[in-house]
Amino acid sequence: MRTVNCARCGRLYEYNGISDYCPICMQYDEANFQRIKEYLNEHPKATVMQVATGLDIPVKMIKKYLREGRLEIVEAENFFLECEKCGVPIKTGRFCDSCIRDLDSGIKKVINEAKSNINNINNRRSDEKMRYLDKNKIK
Ligand SMILES: [Zn+2]
Ligand SMILES: [Zn+2]
Repeated sequence: MRTVNCARCGRLYEYNGISDYCPICMQYDEANFQRIKEYLNEHPKATVMQVATGLDIPVKMIKKYLREGRLEIVEAENFFLECEKCGVPIKTGRFCDSCIRDLDSGIKKVINEAKSNINNINNRRSDEKMRYLDKNKIK
C-alpha cells in the first residue's frame, strides 16, 4: 500500500488505486454527486451556475464530474467544457465527437500506413530489379 496526499484536503491516506481522494473526501465527493443528481432531477435544465449556487458546490467540482463523464449538460447551447484536443466546446467527457472519430480513424490510419509501407517496399524492390536489368543491358 502506498500512502499519498488527498487531492482535495491534503490528508495522507492509503492509496487504493482508484480515487485521488481520501476516504472522507470520497464520501463527500459521492454525497455531492448524489445531491447534484437529485437537483437535476428536480430542475432538469439547471445550468452549472444554478447547480453550483443552489447546492453551494464549487463549479470546479461540477466540472470534474463532467470531465469524468458522470454528468452531462443537457441544453445544446450550454457548453461548459472544452475538447482537450481541439478546444471546441463539449457537453461531457474529454473530447468532442469529431475528435473521438479522429482518434478512431487515427488507429485505422496507422494500419493503412503500415499497409502502404509494405507496398512501398514492394515497389522499391521492383525498382531495384529494373536497375539491375539496366546494368545487365550495359554489360
Ligand atoms: Zn481528503
Ligand atoms: Zn475536438
